Amino acid sequence: RTKGRLILAAYRLPFKIIQNETGYSLFQNSGGLVSAVLSLAQGQVNTSFDFADKIQWVGYTDNNPEELAGVTLENESFKAHPVFIPPQINEPYYEGFCNDLIWPLFHYFPSLAHFENTNFEAYQEANLLFFEKLKEIIQPNDVIWIHDYQLMLLPDLIRQQFPTNKIGFFFHIPFPSYEIFRLLPTTWRESIIDGILGADVVGFHTNDYVEYFLKAVRMVVGYGNKLHYVNLNNRIVKVDSFPISIDYQKFNDAFDLPEVKHEREQVRATLKEKIIFSVDRLDYSKGLLHRLKGYERFLERFPNWHEKVSFVMVVVPSRDQIEQYQQMKSEIDQTVGRINSSFGKMHWQPIIYQYRSMPFEELVGMYTASDVALITPVRDGMNLVCKEYVASRKDVQGVLILSEMAGAAAELGEALIINPTDAEEIGSAVVRALEMETDEQRKRMEAMQMRLREYDVFAWTNDFFTQMLMIEQEHKKLS
Ligand code: UDP
Repeated sequence: RTKGRLILAAYRLPFKIIQNETGYSLFQNSGGLVSAVLSLAQGQVNTSFDFADKIQWVGYTDNNPEELAGVTLENESFKAHPVFIPPQINEPYYEGFCNDLIWPLFHYFPSLAHFENTNFEAYQEANLLFFEKLKEIIQPNDVIWIHDYQLMLLPDLIRQQFPTNKIGFFFHIPFPSYEIFRLLPTTWRESIIDGILGADVVGFHTNDYVEYFLKAVRMVVGYGNKLHYVNLNNRIVKVDSFPISIDYQKFNDAFDLPEVKHEREQVRATLKEKIIFSVDRLDYSKGLLHRLKGYERFLERFPNWHEKVSFVMVVVPSRDQIEQYQQMKSEIDQTVGRINSSFGKMHWQPIIYQYRSMPFEELVGMYTASDVALITPVRDGMNLVCKEYVASRKDVQGVLILSEMAGAAAELGEALIINPTDAEEIGSAVVRALEMETDEQRKRMEAMQMRLREYDVFAWTNDFFTQMLMIEQEHKKLS
């Protein structure tokens, strides 16, 4: 077994650092990546790697360096190494380059993308700040796992100084087709491709993203590939798909939690009609307006369903300081208002719209109370909400309507797959879902559940990690 430490680099640390009277407290996030990585540390995932220490996590913090001097930032699983990025760099780096260029461009919204030289410079500086922190802690046997579009230059920065450490890079958003990627200025796209190729293993959610990345590699830096192995002059990089998943058992077991049961019963007692449910962060990639238009078409075409169905649409506040997001929110508010006032009755609201976040028990209560989940992003790297919906249906009932533009559609073929910009198609899928026999619901649900149960987030972690550790043998086989 290889012995060493796992060093993880991601924009965010795995916990919030909160100051109180006695010092600082750490509140661990419950996000997918945190629980996936925790499972590694706690030995739930069987790898041939022997953890020499807690997981070392390098991430940004907005606390100022003097404040945290001498404070131990660790809990039983993680030791945090905060990277201090001054606001005058962080703003153009994170808000500017990451959220105002890469996010819209890679989600196929080039018209929303802002190309600013100073933002790219800040991106380079911030990646360097991450590197400087890593330089202080990397030891010979450490394995380094870097996450996402905020840190695309980091793998190569590390590779230059630490040629023998194993480095993995995982990309959590879509990698776009070359026609989109080439919109980036030439020097930026070269830096990005070279940056990522510093890793030994590069992971994406789907085969399409893998193909698009390999094409970008070929076009931008001229390296071909053999069976997803990119042959650089002195090393080989493996590029593959690893569809991220969820803690299937946690969602499936949650069906029977008393709080979840209570939520479910409450919803059912309040809403007597059939329930369609959706929950997403506020984002243009989520297709919220198209979804509302699809539902409106359904109401226009199928008046027999009036008063027999409610669409509960929950939008979780996100990035709402940004003007584009504020505008989108007011468009959503107006569209919901228009649909409710056109079709609603004194005793029936076609859409119940909430702009807030939901605690876990309430979320699973809603998943399990709904007849239909309507998940229609116009672009989504993976989409975990649809997987959570399927996993939480221990009753093996419910119908998933899913956009073909979500990475998850590659694994969930038994959902009703729709084109998210086609209001007619959404309308037809809604009526088909509402009328689907329970037997057919069960068959589709069972097939999807089996797949998610087998490849849950722990299998994902294990898969990625194993490939990273095996890269040497793979090199030998190929050479
Ligand atoms: N979620 C949340 N707060 C809420 C509702 C949902 O954190 O109020 C979670 C949800 O359970 C899911 C995640 O947010 O795990 C959303 O992940 P997804 O991949 O669907 O979309 P993203 O927001 O990452 O683009």
